[in-house]
Amino acid sequence: MFRATVLTLYPEMFPGALGHSLAGRALSDGLWSLQTIQIRDFSTDRHRTVDDTPAGGGAGMVLRADILARAIDHASPANDRRPRLLMSPRGTPLTQARVRSLAEGPGAVVVCGRFEGVDQRVIDARGLEEVSIGDYILSGGEPAALVLLDAVVRLLPGVMGNQASGSEESFETGLLEHPHYTRPTQFEGSPIPEVLVSGNHAKIAAWRRQESERLTATRRPDLWAARPLDAQAKKRAPKA
Ligand code: SAH
Repeated sequence: MFRATVLTLYPEMFPGALGHSLAGRALSDGLWSLQTIQIRDFSTDRHRTVDDTPAGGGAGMVLRADILARAIDHASPANDRRPRLLMSPRGTPLTQARVRSLAEGPGAVVVCGRFEGVDQRVIDARGLEEVSIGDYILSGGEPAALVLLDAVVRLLPGVMGNQASGSEESFETGLLEHPHYTRPTQFEGSPIPEVLVSGNHAKIAAWRRQESERLTATRRPDLWAARPLDAQAKKRAPKA
């Protein structure tokens, strides 16, 4: 079973969105587990302080290395095989490939930062892997941890009813997904594309593929350029 342990100053933010719908049902069915650790419990002073002013001066506060290290050692002893992640805007941008590899592993220990960030020495000493959910700044790591765990949990065995939909979505193929339609057949004067109601499955598949490629090339030139080489070669191959 995938075991998630989240270290946070706001344990009441969990399971939050992960307590509902697909992830929530999977949680109560025991398909994954979620433990929260209050970092503040590892403070040793009367005021339960966890942060201090930045060395070298400047605005804000920094989460202390000693306190966070104690919390990590409690949550994840040396023999714990789970990766230790730190949600961080400086981290490696999260991808579907990383999400999939996490879902195939034993779980994750997820540290949520606050304030200006975390003392570098605990990141180094505990081998924290910094993970970013995008190029923008959140006020804390908790929403990022919820995003990461949501993406992982839906891939766990038995969580998604229709297993096919896991592997055909945007990013799994290196392409954005084609548009979707459903009834009514007319919406404010606009019909469902004719090919989709034709019943011709080969034509439908070709149309979807073409739409995927068009959307990826126009919206995400970065993904388009990075798509697998065999796909690029096929595209470039001269038509017989
Ligand atoms: N001073 C930092 C931002 C700190 S934001 C900087 O300029 O880089 C406070 C906390 O929110 C961070 O420690 C991190 O845990 C979390 N956070 C903010 N943005 C994030 C992002 N894009 N991805 C993941 N975590 C993020």
